[in-house]
Amino acid sequence: MPNPTTITVGVLALQGAFLEHLNLLRRAATQLQSQSDSTSQDELHFDLIQVRNVAQLSKCDALIIPGGESTTMSLVAAQSGLLEPLREFVKVHRKPTWGTCAGLILLAEAANATKKGGQELIGGLDVRVNRNHFGRQVESFQADLDLPFLNEAANQTNGSSSSPAPFQGIFIRAPVVEKILPNVDGIQKDEQQVAETVVAPSKSAKDDRARLAMSSTVEIMGKLPGRVRKASTGGEEVSAGDEVGDIIAVQQGNVFGTSFHPELTADARIHVWWLNRVVESTDRMAV
Ligand code: GLN
Repeated sequence: MPNPTTITVGVLALQGAFLEHLNLLRRAATQLQSQSDSTSQDELHFDLIQVRNVAQLSKCDALIIPGGESTTMSLVAAQSGLLEPLREFVKVHRKPTWGTCAGLILLAEAANATKKGGQELIGGLDVRVNRNHFGRQVESFQADLDLPFLNEAANQTNGSSSSPAPFQGIFIRAPVVEKILPNVDGIQKDEQQVAETVVAPSKSAKDDRARLAMSSTVEIMGKLPGRVRKASTGGEEVSAGDEVGDIIAVQQGNVFGTSFHPELTADARIHVWWLNRVVESTDRMAV
């Protein structure tokens, strides 16, 4: 008899592009289910839910925080009594969590270009993000991204080593990761000294598996190359050739963040990749 496994994946639905994430999650779930039917004895079921309160969050094995407006989202989360439970979810229970754009900002341990007291962070990623890095709404843009983790996933599936099509990155008042912070206690205190920077309150994982996930270092999962931009200090131009590329995707243990909006495309590849990681992590947690 196949063993049915149900994994509940939530999308934080306080504001922003949560419906778009749910659409792509549905497509990704169908793809994973059809793979699991042919390869394993276990039947995989996904329950995809909108999260607006603590009861809904407590059902989730994994969570997506969508793009939108991080200040609004953090205010509504605070009013709904969700901020602390979200911090517990991400940083204590260490459940898989993916933030896109505003979601990445909320999952950073430090964010600048924000007024002190104007915004609360959840944290979980030892990074400092720079909000609205590329400027205002009118300076939004699209760029073809080469995301190496998608290549690996595609090659595992079809056994080839060819590069799949680039991913269309949509950047709307997007943040970038401007600094990877050391994975040590107390980084928030140092970050607090940086002008106009807000930090997330520290939390520590309660059990060993969670602590293990927490000790992982930040991996750079994607960069945006070839953009001539002003260096953040001094204002001098950096030539495209020398440009190492802005960091626009990172992962640390259970937490994944992207500056851009995969949910605003019709491309479910990142959702499929992430859902696969969610399945792996729920398998691990069940051991
Ligand atoms: N700049 C927005 C913020 O600070 C994020 C924009 C987005 O999610 N598209 O929250």
